[in-house]
Amino acid sequence: MKTIQVELAEKRYPIHIGSGLFEKLPQFLEGIGWGRERRLMLVADSHVSPLYAERVLKPLEQAGFTVGQITHPAGEESKSLHTLERLVEDCIRFGLDRSGAVLALGGGVTGDLAGFLAASYMRGIPFIQLPTTLLAHDSSVGGKVGVNHPLGKNMIGAFHQPAMVVFDTDVLKTLPEREILSGCAEVVKHALIWDASFADWLMEHHRQLMALEPEVTAEAIERGCRVKAAVVSQDEKESGIRAILNYGHTIGHALESVSGYGAFTHGEAVAVGMAGAALLGEALGTATEVFPFTRELLAAFRLPTHLSPVWAEEELLAAMKRDKKAKKGAYTFVLPTGIGSVVLQHGVEEAAIREVLARLRG
Ligand code: NAD
Ligand code: MG
Repeated sequence: MKTIQVELAEKRYPIHIGSGLFEKLPQFLEGIGWGRERRLMLVADSHVSPLYAERVLKPLEQAGFTVGQITHPAGEESKSLHTLERLVEDCIRFGLDRSGAVLALGGGVTGDLAGFLAASYMRGIPFIQLPTTLLAHDSSVGGKVGVNHPLGKNMIGAFHQPAMVVFDTDVLKTLPEREILSGCAEVVKHALIWDASFADWLMEHHRQLMALEPEVTAEAIERGCRVKAAVVSQDEKESGIRAILNYGHTIGHALESVSGYGAFTHGEAVAVGMAGAALLGEALGTATEVFPFTRELLAAFRLPTHLSPVWAEEELLAAMKRDKKAKKGAYTFVLPTGIGSVVLQHGVEEAAIREVLARLRG
Protein backbone atom coordinates (compact mmCIF):
# COMPACT_ATOMS: atom_id res chain seq x y z
CA MET A 1 0.00 0.00 0.00
CA LYS A 2 1.11 3.53 -0.77
CA THR A 3 0.05 6.50 1.33
CA ILE A 4 0.28 10.18 0.43
CA GLN A 5 -0.57 13.04 2.78
CA VAL A 6 -2.35 16.03 1.32
CA GLU A 7 -1.14 19.05 3.29
CA LEU A 8 -3.42 22.07 3.31
CA ALA A 9 -3.32 25.25 5.36
CA GLU A 10 -5.92 24.09 7.88
CA LYS A 11 -6.18 20.41 7.21
CA ARG A 12 -4.29 17.34 6.14
CA TYR A 13 -5.67 14.04 4.91
CA PRO A 14 -4.31 10.73 3.70
CA ILE A 15 -4.71 9.06 0.31
CA HIS A 16 -4.27 5.28 0.56
CA ILE A 17 -3.67 3.41 -2.70
CA GLY A 18 -3.40 -0.36 -3.13
CA SER A 19 -5.01 -3.77 -3.45
CA GLY A 20 -7.63 -5.11 -1.00
CA LEU A 21 -8.00 -1.81 0.84
CA PHE A 22 -11.80 -1.84 1.31
CA GLU A 23 -11.32 -4.67 3.81
CA LYS A 24 -9.18 -2.37 5.89
CA LEU A 25 -11.70 0.47 6.03
CA PRO A 26 -12.47 0.01 9.75
CA GLN A 27 -8.75 0.43 10.55
CA PHE A 28 -8.50 3.47 8.27
CA LEU A 29 -11.52 5.07 9.99
CA GLU A 30 -9.93 4.43 13.34
CA GLY A 31 -6.78 6.04 11.97
CA ILE A 32 -8.61 9.33 11.43
CA GLY A 33 -10.40 9.05 14.78
CA TRP A 34 -13.84 7.98 13.56
CA GLY A 35 -15.75 5.85 16.09
CA ARG A 36 -18.72 3.53 15.66
CA GLU A 37 -21.16 6.17 16.92
CA ARG A 38 -20.71 7.99 13.61
CA ARG A 39 -23.48 6.86 11.25
CA LEU A 40 -22.30 6.48 7.67
CA MET A 41 -24.14 6.85 4.37
CA LEU A 42 -22.69 4.99 1.40
CA VAL A 43 -23.50 6.59 -1.97
CA ALA A 44 -22.81 4.73 -5.23
CA ASP A 45 -24.22 4.63 -8.75
CA SER A 46 -26.28 1.86 -10.32
CA HIS A 47 -23.25 0.23 -11.99
CA VAL A 48 -20.91 0.41 -9.03
CA SER A 49 -23.34 -0.44 -6.25
CA PRO A 50 -24.07 -4.06 -7.31
CA LEU A 51 -20.35 -4.62 -7.97
CA TYR A 52 -18.74 -3.13 -4.86
CA ALA A 53 -21.16 -1.84 -2.21
CA GLU A 54 -21.02 -5.14 -0.28
CA ARG A 55 -17.21 -5.03 -0.25
CA VAL A 56 -17.39 -1.70 1.54
CA LEU A 57 -20.40 -2.42 3.76
CA LYS A 58 -19.41 -5.82 5.11
CA PRO A 59 -16.16 -4.99 6.92
CA LEU A 60 -17.69 -1.80 8.31
CA GLU A 61 -20.80 -3.56 9.61
CA GLN A 62 -18.71 -6.37 11.03
CA ALA A 63 -16.71 -3.76 12.90
CA GLY A 64 -19.93 -2.38 14.36
CA PHE A 65 -20.61 0.64 12.15
CA THR A 66 -24.15 1.54 11.09
CA VAL A 67 -24.12 2.19 7.35
CA GLY A 68 -27.02 3.32 5.18
CA GLN A 69 -26.96 2.99 1.41
CA ILE A 70 -28.16 5.08 -1.52
CA THR A 71 -27.88 4.14 -5.19
CA HIS A 72 -28.31 6.80 -7.87
CA PRO A 73 -28.58 6.15 -11.64
CA ALA A 74 -25.17 5.91 -13.36
CA GLY A 75 -24.23 8.77 -15.66
CA GLU A 76 -23.45 12.48 -15.74
CA GLU A 77 -27.21 13.30 -15.63
CA SER A 78 -27.17 12.31 -11.96
CA LYS A 79 -24.88 15.22 -11.13
CA SER A 80 -27.99 17.36 -10.67
CA LEU A 81 -29.88 19.28 -8.01
CA HIS A 82 -32.76 16.88 -8.59
CA THR A 83 -30.65 13.85 -7.59
CA LEU A 84 -29.11 15.82 -4.72
CA GLU A 85 -32.57 16.51 -3.30
CA ARG A 86 -33.36 12.78 -3.39
CA LEU A 87 -30.09 12.00 -1.63
CA VAL A 88 -30.83 14.55 1.08
CA GLU A 89 -34.25 12.98 1.61
CA ASP A 90 -32.69 9.53 2.02
CA CYS A 91 -30.16 10.90 4.52
CA ILE A 92 -32.89 12.54 6.61
CA ARG A 93 -34.99 9.37 6.59
CA PHE A 94 -31.93 7.36 7.62
CA GLY A 95 -31.45 9.71 10.56
CA LEU A 96 -28.09 11.01 9.47
CA ASP A 97 -27.27 13.94 11.74
CA ARG A 98 -24.36 16.36 12.09
CA SER A 99 -22.19 13.63 13.56
CA GLY A 100 -22.71 11.48 10.46
CA ALA A 101 -20.57 11.15 7.35
CA VAL A 102 -20.82 10.25 3.67
CA LEU A 103 -18.85 7.57 1.81
CA ALA A 104 -18.61 8.37 -1.92
CA LEU A 105 -18.01 5.07 -3.75
CA GLY A 106 -17.57 5.57 -7.49
CA GLY A 107 -16.15 7.62 -10.30
CA GLY A 108 -16.06 11.38 -10.60
CA VAL A 109 -19.83 11.65 -10.92
CA THR A 110 -20.51 10.03 -7.56
CA GLY A 111 -17.50 11.75 -5.98
CA ASP A 112 -18.69 15.20 -7.06
CA LEU A 113 -22.35 14.51 -6.22
CA ALA A 114 -21.87 12.76 -2.87
CA GLY A 115 -19.12 15.22 -1.97
CA PHE A 116 -21.53 18.10 -2.56
CA LEU A 117 -24.15 16.26 -0.53
CA ALA A 118 -21.62 16.18 2.33
CA ALA A 119 -20.68 19.84 1.80
CA SER A 120 -24.28 21.01 2.03
CA TYR A 121 -26.11 18.49 4.25
CA MET A 122 -26.79 20.18 7.60
CA ARG A 123 -24.29 22.88 6.52
CA GLY A 124 -21.56 20.34 5.99
CA ILE A 125 -20.55 16.93 7.30
CA PRO A 126 -17.33 15.01 6.59
CA PHE A 127 -16.94 12.55 3.74
CA ILE A 128 -14.56 9.93 2.41
CA GLN A 129 -13.74 9.35 -1.24
CA LEU A 130 -13.62 5.73 -2.42
CA PRO A 131 -12.71 6.21 -6.11
CA THR A 132 -13.51 3.40 -8.54
CA THR A 133 -12.36 4.84 -11.88
CA LEU A 134 -8.85 5.71 -12.99
CA LEU A 135 -10.06 9.24 -13.74
CA ALA A 136 -11.19 9.55 -10.13
CA HIS A 137 -7.54 9.62 -8.98
CA ASP A 138 -7.94 13.20 -10.19
CA SER A 139 -11.49 14.04 -9.08
CA SER A 140 -11.29 12.48 -5.60
CA VAL A 141 -8.36 14.66 -4.50
CA GLY A 142 -8.61 18.41 -4.06
CA GLY A 143 -12.05 19.07 -2.63
CA LYS A 144 -13.93 20.38 -5.65
CA VAL A 145 -17.45 19.01 -5.36
CA GLY A 146 -20.67 19.97 -7.09
CA VAL A 147 -23.45 19.33 -9.54
CA ASN A 148 -24.35 20.56 -13.02
CA HIS A 149 -27.05 23.05 -14.03
CA PRO A 150 -28.85 22.65 -17.38
CA LEU A 151 -27.02 25.84 -18.47
CA GLY A 152 -23.53 24.68 -17.52
CA LYS A 153 -21.34 21.95 -16.06
CA ASN A 154 -20.25 22.20 -12.41
CA MET A 155 -22.14 25.49 -11.98
CA ILE A 156 -23.26 24.67 -8.42
CA GLY A 157 -20.65 23.48 -5.97
CA ALA A 158 -18.27 24.01 -3.13
CA PHE A 159 -14.76 23.38 -1.91
CA HIS A 160 -15.09 20.57 0.60
CA GLN A 161 -12.02 18.44 1.22
CA PRO A 162 -12.50 14.75 1.98
CA ALA A 163 -11.37 13.41 5.35
CA MET A 164 -9.56 10.60 3.51
CA VAL A 165 -9.26 8.96 0.09
CA VAL A 166 -9.08 5.16 -0.12
CA PHE A 167 -8.30 3.91 -3.62
CA ASP A 168 -8.70 0.12 -3.76
CA THR A 169 -7.16 -0.63 -7.14
CA ASP A 170 -8.85 -4.05 -7.38
CA VAL A 171 -12.07 -2.36 -8.52
CA LEU A 172 -10.51 -1.09 -11.75
CA LYS A 173 -10.72 -4.60 -13.26
CA THR A 174 -14.37 -4.12 -14.18
CA LEU A 175 -13.89 -0.68 -15.72
CA PRO A 176 -14.80 -0.52 -19.44
CA GLU A 177 -11.69 -0.09 -21.61
CA ARG A 178 -12.68 3.34 -22.89
CA GLU A 179 -12.98 4.57 -19.30
CA ILE A 180 -9.49 3.23 -18.52
CA LEU A 181 -8.02 5.14 -21.45
CA SER A 182 -9.98 8.26 -20.51
CA GLY A 183 -8.42 8.06 -17.03
CA CYS A 184 -4.98 7.59 -18.59
CA ALA A 185 -5.38 11.00 -20.25
CA GLU A 186 -5.58 12.69 -16.83
CA VAL A 187 -2.58 10.68 -15.62
CA VAL A 188 -0.68 11.92 -18.68
CA LYS A 189 -1.87 15.46 -17.92
CA HIS A 190 -0.45 15.29 -14.40
CA ALA A 191 2.90 14.19 -15.80
CA LEU A 192 3.00 16.80 -18.56
CA ILE A 193 2.27 19.74 -16.25
CA TRP A 194 4.62 18.83 -13.41
CA ASP A 195 7.04 15.98 -13.77
CA ALA A 196 9.10 15.13 -16.87
CA SER A 197 10.46 11.92 -15.30
CA PHE A 198 6.87 10.77 -14.69
CA ALA A 199 6.13 11.45 -18.38
CA ASP A 200 9.13 9.33 -19.43
CA TRP A 201 8.08 6.60 -17.01
CA LEU A 202 4.57 6.60 -18.52
CA MET A 203 6.08 6.25 -21.98
CA GLU A 204 7.99 3.19 -20.79
CA HIS A 205 5.09 1.64 -18.91
CA HIS A 206 2.06 2.54 -21.03
CA ARG A 207 1.31 -1.06 -21.95
CA GLN A 208 1.34 -2.23 -18.34
CA LEU A 209 -0.86 0.67 -17.28
CA MET A 210 -3.40 0.06 -20.03
CA ALA A 211 -3.46 -3.61 -18.99
CA LEU A 212 -3.91 -2.49 -15.35
CA GLU A 213 -0.83 -4.39 -14.19
CA PRO A 214 -1.18 -3.89 -10.40
CA GLU A 215 2.26 -2.46 -9.49
CA VAL A 216 2.35 -0.06 -12.42
CA THR A 217 -1.27 1.00 -11.91
CA ALA A 218 -0.70 1.78 -8.24
CA GLU A 219 2.45 3.73 -9.07
CA ALA A 220 0.73 5.72 -11.83
CA ILE A 221 -2.14 6.61 -9.49
CA GLU A 222 0.28 7.49 -6.71
CA ARG A 223 2.39 9.75 -8.93
CA GLY A 224 -0.71 11.38 -10.43
CA CYS A 225 -2.18 11.99 -6.96
CA ARG A 226 1.14 13.43 -5.79
CA VAL A 227 1.02 16.04 -8.55
CA LYS A 228 -2.60 16.89 -7.80
CA ALA A 229 -1.88 17.08 -4.06
CA ALA A 230 1.17 19.31 -4.60
CA VAL A 231 -0.75 21.75 -6.78
CA VAL A 232 -3.81 21.84 -4.51
CA SER A 233 -1.71 22.33 -1.39
CA GLN A 234 -0.24 25.47 -2.96
CA ASP A 235 -3.60 26.87 -4.02
CA GLU A 236 -6.58 25.18 -2.41
CA LYS A 237 -9.30 27.48 -3.81
CA GLU A 238 -7.90 28.18 -7.29
CA SER A 239 -6.77 31.76 -6.99
CA GLY A 240 -3.64 31.02 -9.02
CA ILE A 241 -1.54 27.97 -9.78
CA ARG A 242 -4.36 25.44 -9.41
CA ALA A 243 -5.58 26.56 -12.84
CA ILE A 244 -2.71 24.59 -14.41
CA LEU A 245 -4.73 21.44 -13.70
CA ASN A 246 -6.87 22.59 -16.61
CA TYR A 247 -4.09 21.79 -19.08
CA GLY A 248 -5.74 20.62 -22.31
CA HIS A 249 -9.16 21.50 -20.91
CA THR A 250 -9.79 24.77 -22.82
CA ILE A 251 -10.02 23.02 -26.19
CA GLY A 252 -11.14 19.81 -24.43
CA HIS A 253 -14.19 21.37 -22.80
CA ALA A 254 -15.08 23.18 -26.02
CA LEU A 255 -14.93 19.90 -27.91
CA GLU A 256 -17.12 18.16 -25.32
CA SER A 257 -19.59 21.01 -25.47
CA VAL A 258 -19.94 21.20 -29.29
CA SER A 259 -20.01 17.42 -29.68
CA GLY A 260 -22.85 17.29 -27.17
CA TYR A 261 -21.14 15.26 -24.40
CA GLY A 262 -20.92 11.57 -25.20
CA ALA A 263 -19.14 11.58 -28.59
CA PHE A 264 -15.85 11.89 -26.71
CA THR A 265 -14.94 10.69 -23.27
CA HIS A 266 -13.58 13.50 -21.13
CA GLY A 267 -10.08 12.06 -21.45
CA GLU A 268 -10.28 11.86 -25.24
CA ALA A 269 -11.36 15.50 -25.44
CA VAL A 270 -8.57 16.56 -23.06
CA ALA A 271 -6.06 14.55 -25.13
CA VAL A 272 -6.94 16.57 -28.24
CA GLY A 273 -6.75 19.67 -26.03
CA MET A 274 -3.24 18.79 -24.80
CA ALA A 275 -2.08 18.23 -28.37
CA GLY A 276 -3.55 21.66 -29.20
CA ALA A 277 -1.91 23.32 -26.18
CA ALA A 278 1.45 21.87 -27.20
CA LEU A 279 1.09 23.29 -30.72
CA LEU A 280 -0.09 26.63 -29.35
CA GLY A 281 2.84 26.80 -26.93
CA GLU A 282 5.25 26.19 -29.78
CA ALA A 283 3.51 28.80 -31.97
CA LEU A 284 3.59 31.43 -29.20
CA GLY A 285 7.14 30.56 -28.19
CA THR A 286 6.52 29.41 -24.61
CA ALA A 287 8.10 26.07 -25.53
CA THR A 288 9.99 24.34 -28.29
CA GLU A 289 9.53 20.78 -29.53
CA VAL A 290 6.93 19.65 -27.02
CA PHE A 291 4.38 18.53 -29.59
CA PRO A 292 6.19 15.41 -30.92
CA PHE A 293 6.60 13.87 -27.44
CA THR A 294 3.08 14.91 -26.39
CA ARG A 295 1.58 13.31 -29.48
CA GLU A 296 3.67 10.17 -29.10
CA LEU A 297 2.70 9.73 -25.44
CA LEU A 298 -1.00 10.26 -26.09
CA ALA A 299 -0.93 7.94 -29.09
CA ALA A 300 0.75 5.28 -26.93
CA PHE A 301 -2.40 5.38 -24.79
CA ARG A 302 -4.54 5.19 -27.96
CA LEU A 303 -5.83 8.69 -27.24
CA PRO A 304 -6.76 11.05 -30.09
CA THR A 305 -4.53 13.98 -31.06
CA HIS A 306 -6.50 15.04 -34.14
CA LEU A 307 -9.63 17.03 -34.66
CA SER A 308 -12.16 15.85 -37.18
CA PRO A 309 -13.44 18.63 -39.51
CA VAL A 310 -16.94 17.75 -38.28
CA TRP A 311 -16.42 20.14 -35.37
CA ALA A 312 -16.76 23.68 -36.73
CA GLU A 313 -14.06 26.18 -35.81
CA GLU A 314 -16.53 29.00 -35.03
CA GLU A 315 -18.49 26.82 -32.61
CA LEU A 316 -15.32 25.67 -30.87
CA LEU A 317 -14.12 29.26 -30.45
CA ALA A 318 -17.53 30.35 -29.13
CA ALA A 319 -17.48 27.50 -26.61
CA MET A 320 -13.96 28.46 -25.47
CA LYS A 321 -15.15 32.02 -24.87
CA ARG A 322 -18.01 30.73 -22.70
CA ASP A 323 -15.58 28.70 -20.58
CA LYS A 324 -16.00 29.45 -16.86
CA LYS A 325 -12.30 30.24 -16.63
CA ALA A 326 -12.31 32.73 -19.51
CA LYS A 327 -11.78 36.28 -18.32
CA LYS A 328 -13.82 39.01 -20.08
CA GLY A 329 -14.03 37.14 -23.35
CA ALA A 330 -10.25 36.86 -23.79
CA TYR A 331 -8.84 33.37 -24.28
CA THR A 332 -6.92 31.87 -21.40
CA PHE A 333 -4.72 28.85 -21.93
CA VAL A 334 -2.40 26.69 -19.90
CA LEU A 335 0.65 26.42 -22.17
CA PRO A 336 3.70 24.17 -21.91
CA THR A 337 7.10 25.66 -21.16
CA GLY A 338 8.64 22.23 -21.63
CA ILE A 339 7.69 18.61 -20.90
CA GLY A 340 6.72 18.64 -17.22
CA SER A 341 6.09 22.37 -16.81
CA VAL A 342 3.41 24.83 -17.86
CA VAL A 343 2.40 28.46 -17.53
CA LEU A 344 -1.00 30.16 -17.36
CA GLN A 345 -1.38 32.57 -20.26
CA HIS A 346 -4.16 35.17 -20.49
CA GLY A 347 -5.19 37.10 -23.58
CA VAL A 348 -4.21 34.53 -26.20
CA GLU A 349 -4.93 35.88 -29.69
CA GLU A 350 -7.74 34.28 -31.62
CA ALA A 351 -5.64 34.06 -34.79
CA ALA A 352 -3.13 31.78 -33.05
CA ILE A 353 -5.92 29.49 -31.86
CA ARG A 354 -7.42 29.30 -35.34
CA GLU A 355 -4.05 28.29 -36.69
CA VAL A 356 -3.75 25.52 -34.12
CA LEU A 357 -7.28 24.24 -34.77
CA ALA A 358 -6.38 24.05 -38.47
CA ARG A 359 -3.18 22.13 -37.68
CA LEU A 360 -5.10 19.72 -35.43
CA ARG A 361 -7.25 18.91 -38.45
CA GLY A 362 -4.27 18.53 -40.78
P1 NAD B 1 -18.32 8.27 -13.87
O1 NAD B 1 -18.33 8.47 -12.42
O2 NAD B 1 -19.60 8.50 -14.59
O3 NAD B 1 -17.80 6.81 -14.20
C1 NAD B 1 -17.73 6.37 -15.54
C2 NAD B 1 -18.55 5.11 -15.77
O4 NAD B 1 -17.89 3.99 -15.19
C3 NAD B 1 -19.94 5.13 -15.13
O5 NAD B 1 -20.83 4.47 -15.99
C4 NAD B 1 -19.76 4.32 -13.86
O6 NAD B 1 -20.95 3.72 -13.42
C5 NAD B 1 -18.76 3.30 -14.30
N1 NAD B 1 -17.89 2.76 -13.26
C6 NAD B 1 -17.29 3.45 -12.27
N2 NAD B 1 -16.45 2.65 -11.60
C7 NAD B 1 -16.54 1.43 -12.17
C8 NAD B 1 -15.89 0.19 -11.94
N3 NAD B 1 -14.94 0.06 -11.01
N4 NAD B 1 -16.24 -0.87 -12.71
C9 NAD B 1 -17.16 -0.73 -13.69
N5 NAD B 1 -17.78 0.43 -13.98
C10 NAD B 1 -17.46 1.49 -13.23
O7 NAD B 1 -17.22 9.20 -14.59
P2 NAD B 1 -15.70 9.55 -14.29
O8 NAD B 1 -15.06 9.53 -15.62
O9 NAD B 1 -15.11 8.75 -13.21
O10 NAD B 1 -15.80 11.04 -13.77
C11 NAD B 1 -16.30 12.08 -14.56
C12 NAD B 1 -16.83 13.18 -13.68
O11 NAD B 1 -15.77 13.62 -12.83
C13 NAD B 1 -17.32 14.40 -14.41
O12 NAD B 1 -18.58 14.76 -13.91
C14 NAD B 1 -16.31 15.47 -14.08
O13 NAD B 1 -16.87 16.76 -14.05
C15 NAD B 1 -15.84 15.03 -12.74
N6 NAD B 1 -14.49 15.53 -12.38
C16 NAD B 1 -14.35 16.18 -11.22
C17 NAD B 1 -13.11 16.65 -10.82
C18 NAD B 1 -12.96 17.33 -9.51
O14 NAD B 1 -11.89 17.88 -9.22
N7 NAD B 1 -13.95 17.32 -8.66
C19 NAD B 1 -12.00 16.46 -11.64
C20 NAD B 1 -12.16 15.77 -12.83
C21 NAD B 1 -13.42 15.31 -13.19
MG1 MG C 1 -10.44 16.76 -16.35
